[in-house]
Amino acid sequence: LMQQYFQCACAVSDILRRHWLAGRALHTLPDFEVIQLNDTHPTIAIPELLRLLLDEHGLSWDDAWHITSRTFAYTNHTLMPEALERWPASLLRELLPRHLQIIKQINRRLKQQVKQRWPNDSALWHKLAVVSEGEVRMANLCVVSCFAVNGVAALHSQLVVNDLFPEYHQMWPHKFHNVTNGITPRRWLKQCNPLLSALIDDSLQVEWANDLDALEWLAPLAKKKSFRQQFRTIKQQNKLRLTVYIKRVTGIDINPDALFDVQIKRLHEYKRQHLSLLHILHCYRQLRDNPDNPDFVPRVFLFGAKAAPGYLLAKNIICAINKVAEVINNDPLVGDRLKVVFVPDYRITAAELMIPAADLSEQISTAGYEASGTGNMKLALNGALTIGTLDGANVEIAEAVGEKNIFIFGNTVDEVKALKADGYSPKKLRKHDRYLDGLLKELEKGKFSDGDRQVFAPLLESLSKQGDPWLVLADFAAYIAAQQRVEALWRDPEAWTKAAILNTAHTGRFSADRSIRDYQQRIWQAAR
Ligand SMILES: *Cc1c(COP(=O)(O)O)cnc(C)c1O
Repeated sequence: LMQQYFQCACAVSDILRRHWLAGRALHTLPDFEVIQLNDTHPTIAIPELLRLLLDEHGLSWDDAWHITSRTFAYTNHTLMPEALERWPASLLRELLPRHLQIIKQINRRLKQQVKQRWPNDSALWHKLAVVSEGEVRMANLCVVSCFAVNGVAALHSQLVVNDLFPEYHQMWPHKFHNVTNGITPRRWLKQCNPLLSALIDDSLQVEWANDLDALEWLAPLAKKKSFRQQFRTIKQQNKLRLTVYIKRVTGIDINPDALFDVQIKRLHEYKRQHLSLLHILHCYRQLRDNPDNPDFVPRVFLFGAKAAPGYLLAKNIICAINKVAEVINNDPLVGDRLKVVFVPDYRITAAELMIPAADLSEQISTAGYEASGTGNMKLALNGALTIGTLDGANVEIAEAVGEKNIFIFGNTVDEVKALKADGYSPKKLRKHDRYLDGLLKELEKGKFSDGDRQVFAPLLESLSKQGDPWLVLADFAAYIAAQQRVEALWRDPEAWTKAAILNTAHTGRFSADRSIRDYQQRIWQAAR
């Protein structure tokens, strides 16, 4: 809290100082400045601005509120209740007593409005309050105090309105917007993929990195055999570059002709790295059942991820991926047809090598939980095909590249809700799907842990006793079926390359330049 306050106090002070130096009156602040709150972390800037206007500049509450509530805008980045910040009022009282007073005043005025609109509904007031049960709810404080609230992908912005803040939306429908996230094409294509960038330079002869919609002109070239050959050769060179890096940092030899199946993102249950792990167990099972299958598609599974220090289950999933990798990578029956690599120290530098080399982009979160994703955009832009759920910006990537050029699978947001409402039972599902049951039993019986049946207990208990909250088992069959569609296309390299080119051609809209233009048009220049 002290760190947040330090940053916010400096920023707000500096904004007011510059405003004053420009010779402008205080009440014109919203005409010249927007403070865009990037998630709830800088929320304390709201009571800080109010405090300065009230206590340092002597404004009335109404005047101070009029200025403040037209200056701040809030971007929501997650719907998960445990990720929405709540600070104990006692902590605020100790460190920032004046700010707590101001927050309580905001809460009192909100209460008047809510009671007027919904009299005698104390449950609803309890839900909408900024201060409740000795805690300050930063997301509520943001929505109440800001002139604009936005989600970061079309689906997510819908859920912000319908599931997270439906009553606030009734009170202030004009506040709510969508701005789909974007990525910088300077880093995530021009810098990290110089070979593909040179091919695009040669093909388009325009400054595409500052005008990413120009990539659309690549689409007709997907029909040209020679262009496909050039595109494929570049992907192959990028895979060789990654192969050298992997050898250096892990000592593992990977087959650059195999399909590079890439899942790179923070380790979290909702992102479902463990769903990919089950697919790996499936591939291994297939090889053992039919070792001479000439149609087996060789794969290298590449993971990059960090877990938060206290997140035991996330660390257990990392452990499981590494244990399974050790067995598969050293099984002579497998050879170079299957490799699993958990790349250490995942960070931007590693991402810049992995993304240009990816064939398949894993975007397999439980529908409704990935607000946007940006890794999905980086990978599609670099010609990886996405296998993914209808979640976050995957929905808009599918719309952009077309259904033939993406592998969508799994329960939708509505189906996820229905499953949970109907009392989804992973136990029943396992009884029904004996094949999946067999894969899980291998983990349970210690096949990947030298007979130790306890190592994967946190992971296995989450999938059983704890009711599989992220519906990993519920999406397993559809995921395997989608992976079979991936393999069918991979066996036709010309068709695969065509789809990869169309991914690059049609993902220009995910440039951060377009996101910034959206903020400019929809939020920053809005009349307030
Ligand atoms: C883009 C990026 C992310 C975000 O990835 P998602 O798949 O959108 O979660 C995380 N870490 C690094 C290093 C990245 O470059």
